[in-house]
Amino acid sequence: MSNTEISVLENITQILGYRPDFFGCDLRDMKQLEEIFEKYDFDGVVHFAGLKSPRESCDRANEYFDNNITWSLKLFACMEKYGVMKIIFSSSAAIYSTQGMHKKGLDENADIWNTNHPYGSTKLILENILWDLAKFSWFQVISFRYFNPIWAHTSWLLWENPVWIPNNLFPYIMKVASGDLDYISVFGNDYNTHDGTGIRDYIDVNDLVRGHILWYEYFDTIGQNVACFEVFNLWTWLWISVIEAITSVSNVLWKDISYVFEDRRLGDLAEVYCNPMRAKNILWWTSKVTLDESIKNTLYYHKISA
Ligand code: UDP
Repeated sequence: MSNTEISVLENITQILGYRPDFFGCDLRDMKQLEEIFEKYDFDGVVHFAGLKSPRESCDRANEYFDNNITWSLKLFACMEKYGVMKIIFSSSAAIYSTQGMHKKGLDENADIWNTNHPYGSTKLILENILWDLAKFSWFQVISFRYFNPIWAHTSWLLWENPVWIPNNLFPYIMKVASGDLDYISVFGNDYNTHDGTGIRDYIDVNDLVRGHILWYEYFDTIGQNVACFEVFNLWTWLWISVIEAITSVSNVLWKDISYVFEDRRLGDLAEVYCNPMRAKNILWWTSKVTLDESIKNTLYYHKISA
């Protein structure tokens, strides 16, 4: 809850038609965590919690290690104690070493030994821990490596709306489009990419949600009491540069978005994009929402007319 507001729960209630049980529980509080596991007969856990800014993690490495790793260990211990073995984990493409980068994108077997920032390291370490828990404690693990989730839920009730000034590209562009901020800083125009700016794959959050739901069916095919550790890239395979991202919003809006070039941002890589074929072949998952559709939806939330 450190970068959102409790009012989000009301909107979730509206979407579901009932109020979901909610505990504002800190993972550091093992006692409260156990009370929750005691109360419910959980089938599995979807673990999204964590700090997530590569840049910020360079300044606050220990906080990232503590928050993302130490407190996750409490969750895993609790799961084991209560016999809840299925977990889906939000990993990141930030764990890949980009040295093997080529135009087909990185697949799940690409090198992951050389992360570029503490945030990436936290995800890598947690994947290793989960791998061991699968091997030695019979955990059933699916780790989704995604990179830049964007946009909003199709109900128009949930959208990316950080409490603080956004770190991420698209929420920042939206603040400029809506007039809340004057311009966007483009971090680096001297990368070895076609227009010199950083390249990423931006994936609509609704596509990601579908991927997470499919894990249930996948676990059913494995059966109970069979340990597993699977990793999947969830990507659109349509990567774009920072300038192309700004231009896409401009084109949908028919309005200029002001930007200035600044120095590269600490911890940033020139380009990262992955190959999502494994998710397609095994989970039957592919992204469906186009970038333009995503942008149009998001403009609506921001009350900007296109
Ligand atoms: N970026 C930028 N200006 C901003 C925010 C991001 O130029 O205000 C660039 C950043 O350098 C990277 C890309 O946009 O090349 C995506 O950054 P973001 O923070 O959204 O995600 P990250 O890839 O760092 O997780």
